[in-house]
Amino acid sequence: MSKKKLGLNTICIHVGEVKDEQFKGAVSPMYLSSSYEFLDVDVKRYPRYFNTPNQEFLAKKIAALENTESALIFGSGMAAISTMFLAFLQQGDHLVVQNTLYGGTVNFIKEEFPKYGIEYTFTNGYSVEDFEKAIKPNTKLIHIETPSNPLMTITDIKAIARLGKSKGILTSIDNTFASPVNQKPIDLGIDMVMHSATKYFGGHSDILAGAVASSEELIERIFNVGKNLGGNLSDMTVWMLERSLKTLGLRVKAQTKNAMKMAKWLNKHPKVSKVYYPGLKSHPEYKLAKSQMSGFGAMLSFELTEDLDAYKFQKALRLIKSSMSLAGVESTVISPHLTSHALLTQEERDAIGISDQLIRFSVGIEDVKDLKRDITNAIKMIE
Ligand SMILES: *Cc1c(COP(=O)(O)O)cnc(C)c1O
Repeated sequence: MSKKKLGLNTICIHVGEVKDEQFKGAVSPMYLSSSYEFLDVDVKRYPRYFNTPNQEFLAKKIAALENTESALIFGSGMAAISTMFLAFLQQGDHLVVQNTLYGGTVNFIKEEFPKYGIEYTFTNGYSVEDFEKAIKPNTKLIHIETPSNPLMTITDIKAIARLGKSKGILTSIDNTFASPVNQKPIDLGIDMVMHSATKYFGGHSDILAGAVASSEELIERIFNVGKNLGGNLSDMTVWMLERSLKTLGLRVKAQTKNAMKMAKWLNKHPKVSKVYYPGLKSHPEYKLAKSQMSGFGAMLSFELTEDLDAYKFQKALRLIKSSMSLAGVESTVISPHLTSHALLTQEERDAIGISDQLIRFSVGIEDVKDLKRDITNAIKMIE
């Protein structure tokens, strides 16, 4: 059966299962060996070579979800992104990277690239022209993130893919926020897709993992660097990730539906001055988001009115937890100005639109009426 013809949920459940030949159990057995037969075998298996049975098979599920030939699973999103970058960038090369980006990726570039003699340019904005202006003769990779953290800006994936192809530059995307349930960048022409699998792939706030999906040829190049850097995921967590991925479609669709309802409700709330959600018609890139996403995702941000204290608001919530991470089945909120963007100056934050009133909201699968009530009660308590 061709994997491409299978539906999303069928892929989530059935692609990349390790068959239990011995006992015919319903789920993949967990292979914890870190030592495998070496003599006269076709494949020399070792966890750091990304080729234990659980790693090899789960990679097939992720490749099927992203419509790629191949994939690799890593110990974290940062292991995935750092290995991918170092596979295609060496001394004297140049990376063009979007200005609104996950903080850890920004830190990796700023703190590590100078040590390797790799050059980089952060774009001034996220339009195709901004990317084009940043390209230099030694540019080897363009990296984007859409929707991006925390204001849910939308980058034109097709246009960036076209730009890369026209200049012979590889393109990569951080698809963590949308997940393959809502966005398939490979179908839009991007070369490589990476994920913090800690987020929607894991979905239960109990796994740290990452993944990259691409063609066999590009994955081979990432593998060659990855085996040296040693960022593979342990097989026990690989097994947990397989279990989580079975419900990826169900979870993310339910979360996306809830996010749309919450965004519309917050948009009309007298104590909310602004909502950032690509599914709202008021979002500046609503049409673009609609053209490249099958759903608008479950991440949104909103600004409380000036009279409310964002810190007190988070403390007053009972159901919705304040949390650094995101994308679990439980709803969480965070103040970007106190966390991801705390190291910037007030002026720097103002320049990129991160106000003290901003709350990033990762919408879970709870009943919407309870989420609304929690927010209403919290606002009443601090008014
Ligand atoms: C969390 C996150 C990462 C980093 O992933 P880790 O699993 O924490 O290493 C990268 N990109 C985005 C968009 C993220 O949200």
